[in-house]
Amino acid sequence: MNLNRLNEIKTDGLKLVAQSGARIIDVSREALAQRLTGLEFACGIPGSVGGALYMNAGAYGGEIKDVLESTVVVDKNGELLTLSADQLDLEYRTSNIPDNGYIVLEGTFALKEGNYDEIKAVMDDLTFKRESKQPLEYPSCGSVFKRPPGYFAGKLIQDSGLQGTQIGGAQVSQKHAGFIVNKDNATADEYIQLIRHVQTIVKEKFGVTLEREVRIIGEDLE
Ligand SMILES: Cc1cc2nc3c(=O)[nH]c(=O)nc-3n(C[C@H](O)[C@H](O)[C@H](O)COP(=O)(O)OP(=O)(O)OC[C@H]3O[C@@H](n4cnc5c(N)ncnc54)[C@H](O)[C@@H]3O)c2cc1C
Repeated sequence: MNLNRLNEIKTDGLKLVAQSGARIIDVSREALAQRLTGLEFACGIPGSVGGALYMNAGAYGGEIKDVLESTVVVDKNGELLTLSADQLDLEYRTSNIPDNGYIVLEGTFALKEGNYDEIKAVMDDLTFKRESKQPLEYPSCGSVFKRPPGYFAGKLIQDSGLQGTQIGGAQVSQKHAGFIVNKDNATADEYIQLIRHVQTIVKEKFGVTLEREVRIIGEDLE
């Protein structure tokens, strides 16, 4: 195990083992290089393997839960544990990693043999979708809200007429209403005020509670 940067990625047959500090985008690219299919969905998700397991990251119909076989973690007592994916209770953008206080060291992904050109075509298509629909030209925290059952958060926000609404430097993106972008030196407080405003208006108009996907660190801000 590479303990310097914890970012090693290696494959063994149809298994890909990635340490927690590896970027999930690089993991997806390595799968492509090895002609392994299953991780195409992750090709544009910014973040590490550790963060991706913690929140069962996903996009465009795929999620970590679909491909994770097992993980090595350190528990609160400093014990090294090898857990199967089932033991992490991976659900929509959640896992039991925070409740158990696990520190993820590596993940093993079970992939399938694929065709390089086909895998690449899927990744190119997802990259095109992401770049054309998401406001990647501005800093953001990604999707602010979870998908409420039966709805799309972005559509509800758009239909509430909130696109372009700005508090200080934080703005509900004109390009994708599910994103709040930093247009002009926004503070965390402005960002949080705008989140609350959006939640209030969507609740008033549609009776739907928007739950944050973004996590707020700092008890005074919650
Ligand atoms: C523009 C943009 C687009 C995004 N698109 C998507 C998307 O399509 N799908 C999606 O799911 N997410 C998306 N995200 C959100 C986020 O980037 C991902 O969920 C990513 O997987 C989080 O990983 P991270 O390494 O950045 O984690 P961080 O945000 O740094 O951490 C998240 C949590 O994981 C914990 N954590 C991190 N590493 C470990 C570890 N080794 N062991 C235990 N806990 C750990 C942290 O303590 C923290 O509580 C997007 C974000 C942005 C800014």
